[in-house]
Amino acid sequence: MKEKGTVFSDHTHIKKVAGKIVYAERDGKDIQFNDIDMIVVSTGMKSFNPLENELKNNISVHVIGDAKKTGNAQDAIKNAYETSKKL
Ligand SMILES: Cc1cc2nc3c(=O)[nH]c(=O)nc-3n(C[C@H](O)[C@H](O)[C@H](O)COP(=O)(O)OP(=O)(O)OC[C@H]3O[C@@H](n4cnc5c(N)ncnc54)[C@H](O)[C@@H]3O)c2cc1C
Repeated sequence: MKEKGTVFSDHTHIKKVAGKIVYAERDGKDIQFNDIDMIVVSTGMKSFNPLENELKNNISVHVIGDAKKTGNAQDAIKNAYETSKKL
């Protein structure tokens, strides 16, 4: 992405997108990006696990992977393996 001239803008709050112009704020200052073709939004992740509460009173529930704690695929696979070994 850097080779192709991609502009990385962390700690930047997008306020408005109007056509090819992006209005934003960084460190309390208004900034503007002109002639923008594409915006890639990158955010954090958080667990989503509504099933545990629905099921835990009726059956034994073991939470694994991202539902337990967000990570990468290897973490989820290892976590599932370790949990299933104990069952
Ligand atoms: C954008 C993005 C990019 C990523 N890139 C990488 C990467 O390059 N390398 C890497 O190692 N990790 C990456 N990760 C992390 C990786 O995808 C996760 O850590 C991993 O998929 C977690 O596995 P999991 O089985 O816990 O959950 P998931 O893979 O999310 O699987 C859970 C499954 O359960 C299903 N489900 C949910 N609720 C129900 C329900 N009520 N009934 C039936 N099915 C249900 C969902 O549809 C889903 O298919 C990335 C994650 C994201 C979001």
